[in-house]
Amino acid sequence: MFKKLIRYSNKIFDLFTIIAFVTDERTKAQIHTVKIVAAIIVMHFTNQGSLNNFSQEITFKRLKADIPSVSTIARVADTMDLGKIRAVGLEIYKKARAKKMLESCHGMWVGVVDGHEQITSAYCKCKYCKSRIVTRENGVKDIQYYHEFTAFILAGPKISFTLDIEPVLPKEGELTSAYRLIERVCKNYPKAFSVVIGDGLYLRETIFNLLKAHHKYAIAVLKEERRQLFEEANRLSLLSEPKVYRKKKTYYRVWEHSISGCWDGYGKDVRVIVSEEATPVRVHSKDGRSFENRVNRANWMWVTNLPCSDNLDDLKNTVAVCHSRWQIENQCFNETVNTWNADHVYRHSANAIIAFLLLLFICVNIFNIFRIRNIKDRRIKTKIYLIKLIGIGFHTDEITFPLAPTIPPIPI
Ligand SMILES: [Zn+2]
Repeated sequence: MFKKLIRYSNKIFDLFTIIAFVTDERTKAQIHTVKIVAAIIVMHFTNQGSLNNFSQEITFKRLKADIPSVSTIARVADTMDLGKIRAVGLEIYKKARAKKMLESCHGMWVGVVDGHEQITSAYCKCKYCKSRIVTRENGVKDIQYYHEFTAFILAGPKISFTLDIEPVLPKEGELTSAYRLIERVCKNYPKAFSVVIGDGLYLRETIFNLLKAHHKYAIAVLKEERRQLFEEANRLSLLSEPKVYRKKKTYYRVWEHSISGCWDGYGKDVRVIVSEEATPVRVHSKDGRSFENRVNRANWMWVTNLPCSDNLDDLKNTVAVCHSRWQIENQCFNETVNTWNADHVYRHSANAIIAFLLLLFICVNIFNIFRIRNIKDRRIKTKIYLIKLIGIGFHTDEITFPLAPTIPPIPI
């Protein structure tokens, strides 16, 4: 399965050719960067989880002549050109989009942005380490260091595709990092999406205006902190009848209000969507002996500058699009941490952490496409199982390097 994935990556995405453009800042390099990047990609694809583990595998497979040592990999990652790695990600996206491998989300191309805390550590090791004081149980105060980043994904019905990430630097909040990220994504991926969703934090005129300048619509979760808008939406909901519909098992009561003059600083009319959702479920009773019926209820409010429409189907779609924000939590953050070891620090330096993560997201994007389009064997049902098969393939098959015959000869 490992060989199959590598062949697929080369055939469809030219992966091992386009990574040849990644560079680093070594002056007298003995080993070309492409070899290092290829090694990191192999490590991520085979889900080794750490450089130490990878080193063990290299020794076992007698691949020392083909794969650089892990200390070299770590050292080179310190100065690897992040812009060039991002360009590889962009190239993969272009190929996937041109080959119609990505699908729109409920009729719209939807971007989702959010922040995530990646690691915590007791030691400060790089200039991107943020710090906070934590009080332990015995009252002792400790400084804890941590790293955060913001991510931008393209939501889809089957898979989400991570476009880019940006670190949250010390002394700055998530919004500052997200602003940089959105600006860069809009520039690099101008036609990839038409609407961007964020949580309550993104209900800011700066974000809405930035997206508007790039001809994108914005959606943000409305929370109580935005008192004026929140109360006005609630007042209007009491005065009007909701639209009622059912989708799968969930019953929706949805109001749609056009509100003006309640958001200081933005100054334009916005649309507030209020959704009351009820889903009947059958769960185990507390004594564990029988089942009981329960109704899960959720209330949602979103603010958007998407144009209004009286059509019920359009409204249903908009509510579904608003809910696709969860993909960033589930498919981008949780899954990459739990399944792909995204919270592991392969090398603690400002540049290396981002380089390893960008390459990981490139691998995960390719893996997801490979899985839904190329795995026809019905016995392979879960992602975890497929990842295991790839790892086993690397461990047992005879692997020949270079992985791609297409790598151009590079003068050292
Ligand atoms: Zn650090």
